[in-house]
Amino acid sequence: MSNLVTVKGLSRSFPSGETTIQAVQKVQFNVAQGEFVAIVGASGSGKSTLLSLLAGLDVPNDGGVWLLEQAIHEMNEEERARFRRKHLGFIFQSFQLFAEYTALENVLFPLELQGELSYEAATQKATAILTRLGLGSRLDHKPAKLSGGEQQRVAIARAFVAEPPILFADEPTGNLDQDTGRVVEEVLFELQRETKTTVILVTHDLELAEKADRVLVMSGGRLSERL
Ligand code: ADP
Ligand code: MG
Repeated sequence: MSNLVTVKGLSRSFPSGETTIQAVQKVQFNVAQGEFVAIVGASGSGKSTLLSLLAGLDVPNDGGVWLLEQAIHEMNEEERARFRRKHLGFIFQSFQLFAEYTALENVLFPLELQGELSYEAATQKATAILTRLGLGSRLDHKPAKLSGGEQQRVAIARAFVAEPPILFADEPTGNLDQDTGRVVEEVLFELQRETKTTVILVTHDLELAEKADRVLVMSGGRLSERL
């Protein structure tokens, strides 16, 4: 199986007064196509910094990230933004839906960016995935009118709808109560299994991580594999 994600000697530090914080230190791993990888670790261990580097939202001080065999760390900001829009999906702890858009418009957005479908076909596709996730009666609701669990399901629909080869999730259940979190998890794993999307998910929820194909552990900026 080919590697969709290759990470070599990845390091990122932040200046902090007189010293520097080594947030990510010489991290190295590969992810194969279709794998669901969970990265766990205590708060402050460097998980979010690592995810930002992997997704091309931040750039390393050293080492590199190759996604779909392209060197993300060698791209400029504009190239990285274009790459993210074209190839990556994102799910965040804080949902990050567009407040002024309805659920349907939020999910339409990546399809419009992709520009491959007519408006009618895109609307049909966005409606189908929202209905599938139990939001068929919420299409015209703006995020403020939706519960946390509903907002995160809209965000998951938005992340999957354009069928990105790689999807990144940072604490997707972190803002939800336990029961709602489990429902959102189910939806995420179900769509992943069906679409064979490669997923890299950061969480401090060990129960969630257990369901992944592989668990990587961050500790003080360093990564190890849990066997
Ligand atoms: P986690 O997501 O595991 O909680 P983070 O990646 O957010 O950890 O943070 C790892 C370390 O890097 C922490 O010590 C944090 O304070 C520091 N850090 C993260 N981002 C920045 C930043 N933009 N500027 C300075 N320090 C940062
Ligand atoms: Mg974090």
